[in-house]
Amino acid sequence: SPGPFTLGRWTTDRAATEPARPAIVDRGVVVSYGELEARATALAHALGEAGHGRGARIATVTGSTADQVVLLFACAKAGATLVPLSWRLTAGELAAQLRIADPSLLLVEDDHRPVAEAALERLADARIPTTGLGAAGAESSVPDALHPVAAAAPQDDDALLMLFTSGTTSAPKAVVLSHANCAWANLSLSRATPLTPDDVVLQVLPQHHVAGWNIQPLLAWWVGASVVLERTFDAGRALALIERHRVTATMGVPTTFRALVQHPDFQARDLSSVRSAVVGGGMLDPRAAEQLARKGIAVRQGYGLTEAAPNVAITRDESDAGTVGRPYPHVDVALLVAGRVEHGAGAGELLVRGPGVFRGYFRDPEATEAAFLGPWLRTGDLVARDASGRIRIVDRVKDIVRSGGESIAPIEVELALLEHPAVADAAVAGVPSERWGEELVAWVVLAEPAEPAALRAHLDGRLADFKHPKRFLVVDSIPRTTSGKPLRRALTAAFEAARAEAR
Ligand code: ATP
Repeated sequence: SPGPFTLGRWTTDRAATEPARPAIVDRGVVVSYGELEARATALAHALGEAGHGRGARIATVTGSTADQVVLLFACAKAGATLVPLSWRLTAGELAAQLRIADPSLLLVEDDHRPVAEAALERLADARIPTTGLGAAGAESSVPDALHPVAAAAPQDDDALLMLFTSGTTSAPKAVVLSHANCAWANLSLSRATPLTPDDVVLQVLPQHHVAGWNIQPLLAWWVGASVVLERTFDAGRALALIERHRVTATMGVPTTFRALVQHPDFQARDLSSVRSAVVGGGMLDPRAAEQLARKGIAVRQGYGLTEAAPNVAITRDESDAGTVGRPYPHVDVALLVAGRVEHGAGAGELLVRGPGVFRGYFRDPEATEAAFLGPWLRTGDLVARDASGRIRIVDRVKDIVRSGGESIAPIEVELALLEHPAVADAAVAGVPSERWGEELVAWVVLAEPAEPAALRAHLDGRLADFKHPKRFLVVDSIPRTTSGKPLRRALTAAFEAARAEAR
């Protein structure tokens, strides 16, 4: 029988007792729990029969859709692994990820067929059959009552999801999350930010990212709540959906919430139904948090990484402001300080362990070995922890800028800039400097005109002089990953190229 922590039965009871209850609202189309279960069961059968059962990897290129949710539960039932790839990749990038994932099947949404086909052309040696996402298993006529009998039932340690990290610090790596990793991550979540069957979750984060599953949607389907799915995020539409569906819970990255508060409809919309809002992937600036609070939305600040499925820490209340709070239940943390594992207060690289933490990158023993220190996952994030266990994220170890003998965390400077009313978005990074080793450059998106001198004056008194950017560049937008991270390496590379050309 299936392992106790496998996700294949997460919607089975609900489908039996309340089949008409809405599980997903996808562009206005409602998928009930009964339908979700029946379609996932039929598809699991079809996959198994076609040789894509336990141990198979099924890759997709699609926006967030109900079809992909059906596929995830079908994979869970059949023991296969879902590999949702980003629809934003170029053909070359997609080919590179397909080469690593080595799937037995690729399912693509019509919109993304051209890029998928171009990627496959580059992989002439790898024969990967493709089909449309909605078409998968449509031909199957398996009765709803039948449950798939995989050659061997899925077990807790079987891989359920393979997710590529965003590649902001290194080439994307394929993180394998097991059923148990996901079950524990959701168990932790349900204790820190519980959902009930009456909740309506708005999902705006993409399904090729861990946040598209493990922050709220999977928990919602586990408890029998409804999820309103957005294929891609649009602030105006999200505000309208919150009002129309009386959304009670949502999660986003800082850019999501910043876009909501900056949208002209923000004040007029009725957002009073929202009782739980979680932000992760970066720190929400206090100005945006305050604007949300004025509309009655208290945002909880989370921290995590794909390798930890992803939940590591979250704030509880206002006393945690400026930090990411304390670890979730079932998550242990420690600090790596000068090569030693420390359990008290202090500053160092954050280490994480617990049943949500992954076992390794797919077919990459070297990267896996480098990711761990004994039982501890090395997060690559520099943090400070106070005596009460609150964690403050300083920045990525790799993104710390060394300028004139000082260490500067770009996040701190970005947050300070975002407090200026004219600054709509900001990114800060170090570029090589003969004089300082590295020097700080700020890229800013302005909501209204502002001179660099005014921005400098704003930083005076907020940040020590050595943390002031040497240059301010006004840009139309900050390039970001779909999970909202500024692409600092792309910004500095463009800056370097322009500087070389000017010489
Ligand atoms: P890659 O390793 O390829 O660069 P990635 O690490 O960006 O990809 P994710 O797992 O999406 O992929 O991101 C996790 C990282 O996001 C964390 O290690 C941390 O650096 C950053 N992060 C998450 N939450 C926060 C937060 N609240 N504040 C600051 N940074 C955060």
